[in-house]
Amino acid sequence: MVLPTVIADVERAFVSYAPGHWPQATQEEWNDWRWQLKNRVTTLEGLEKHLRLSPEERAGVILSAHKLAMSITPHYFNLIEVDDPDGPIRRQVIPRFEESHHHPSEVADPCGEDAHMPVPGLVHRYPDRVNFLITDRCASYCRYCTRSRVVSGAGEQELHTEFEQAFNYLEQHKEVRDVLLSGGDPLLFSDDKLEKILSRLRAIKHIEFLRIGTRVPIFLPQRITLGLCQMLQKYHPLWMSVHTNHPRELTLEVRAALEQLANHGIPLGNQSVLLSKVNDTLPIMKSLVQKLLQCRVRPYYLYQCDLIHGSAHLRTSVSKGIEIIEGLRGHTTGYAIPQFVIDAPGGGGKVPLNPNYIRSHDEKKIVLQNYEGRLFEYPEIGL
Ligand SMILES: *Cc1c(COP(=O)(O)O)cnc(C)c1O
Repeated sequence: MVLPTVIADVERAFVSYAPGHWPQATQEEWNDWRWQLKNRVTTLEGLEKHLRLSPEERAGVILSAHKLAMSITPHYFNLIEVDDPDGPIRRQVIPRFEESHHHPSEVADPCGEDAHMPVPGLVHRYPDRVNFLITDRCASYCRYCTRSRVVSGAGEQELHTEFEQAFNYLEQHKEVRDVLLSGGDPLLFSDDKLEKILSRLRAIKHIEFLRIGTRVPIFLPQRITLGLCQMLQKYHPLWMSVHTNHPRELTLEVRAALEQLANHGIPLGNQSVLLSKVNDTLPIMKSLVQKLLQCRVRPYYLYQCDLIHGSAHLRTSVSKGIEIIEGLRGHTTGYAIPQFVIDAPGGGGKVPLNPNYIRSHDEKKIVLQNYEGRLFEYPEIGL
């Protein structure tokens, strides 16, 4: 059993943190996604204007120039805990010295993607769907990024997506019925550039289903404009997976952005990564998934943190994830419960992990344990 701990009311509520550290910004500037991008915090001096860094953070910021860049939108920066270097928002986006520690089990490409790219930028691992990496840039950089080897432009490799080759591959591979646009963050492209890709994919008859994986609604809700939504809705069925880890990330602005996407018929899912001292307690996760439902987002996956270089300080035990799912199932809305998965190291794909509700199972009966721990029997067929 996980004992409930208190979580602040402000994290259960939808609040705005704007303009926070940017009191001089006009409303018009603040609401302009290009202004948000231009004013990202990317340097040590920029950080130290607003926060007192710990020695681990200072060293981490200096190191990040050669690894995974630091970049934080003003919108997201305002959520950072000013006085707590161990705060759940701060740990996600401010580099730490521990990122330079390489644990023996950690690698540059934890999901074995490079070995599954028939065309540079196109990952084809599963029989009927592909992950199309269309950019290496994000609005802000998550310190546990599974693709830090190519994302942000600072790391060891570069992403050189071959668009024409990828479209040709998809035209020839009739088994591909689902294309996931990812990267990097596809929503950093202009509406026009994104539309060119979507319309090209829609022209391929056997592609039934399009989806976009993005953290832009969380890092840069200003990007979710009416124009973008009206463009996206021309390419239905188009689904979207967003990435939220902590209930505080669901601000008033983020909720409005998610509602606007939903109002344009885009079904929304959420992917979270289980992270140490970010969201590794039941009260935090419960508040997150319940707030997501209020934003019309269905929790989809909860990922065990990939074995990316320098992520040990952010990883939790696998048991912690199972314990959290056990604390949700039956205790709250079924729609609120994500599937906990490990993306198998080396390229095995996502493997679901579930609490064990089967106490015994033979040819006569199955003995089930419910969410309260009570036991029930169900006879096997024919007996
Ligand atoms: C996660 C992933 C997908 C999508 O998987 P779903 O379980 O269908 O959401 C597709 N391709 C690759 C390479 C992936 O890692």
